[in-house]
Amino acid sequence: MVTPTESASLQEPNLKGNIPDGLTPDLLRYWEVLDQVPDPEIPAISVVDLGIVTRVTVEDNGAVQVILTPTFAGCPALKWMEKTVREALLEAGAPEVEVQTTFENPWTSERISESGREKIRNFGLAPPPRRRPGCVGPDLEALAHAVCPRCGSENTSMKSPFGPTLCRSLHYCFDCLEAFEQFKPL
Ligand SMILES: [Zn+2]
Repeated sequence: MVTPTESASLQEPNLKGNIPDGLTPDLLRYWEVLDQVPDPEIPAISVVDLGIVTRVTVEDNGAVQVILTPTFAGCPALKWMEKTVREALLEAGAPEVEVQTTFENPWTSERISESGREKIRNFGLAPPPRRRPGCVGPDLEALAHAVCPRCGSENTSMKSPFGPTLCRSLHYCFDCLEAFEQFKPL
């Protein structure tokens, strides 16, 4: 038998995603479709949760325009992402889709939503630490003090600022005695 307390604790934590408030029904539907498009590198997290989808607009003729801010300028997955976003929206009924990529306001890890950070942790990666107030640019201090995604220990040490991909650094947990990766703060 499940007591009310137990059933409450079984619920998903209500973490905030990156879908804006106050959207028209059409826009909300498109944002929800994009929230299902996985990030090429960490498929557990959507391009919306990652903060890559910067703007979605619907024009008078129904055409949809999407602006993406990729995480890295040289991201080879960019073309794949543009294509996947376009196809997902066409499938959702958009008559026409235009996907643009901009680096005007560079992406930072601060754009990752709370629910996205939780998904990164469940994926086995340490989410990027929040930038401390007053800190501009990559927070190297925070990079060196990653929290282990397995046990939550802060007793860790950075093995290398360069993991298997540009976006990740490599760490070691002295409590699990295992290595883990952290999504680098940017
Ligand atoms: Zn650990």
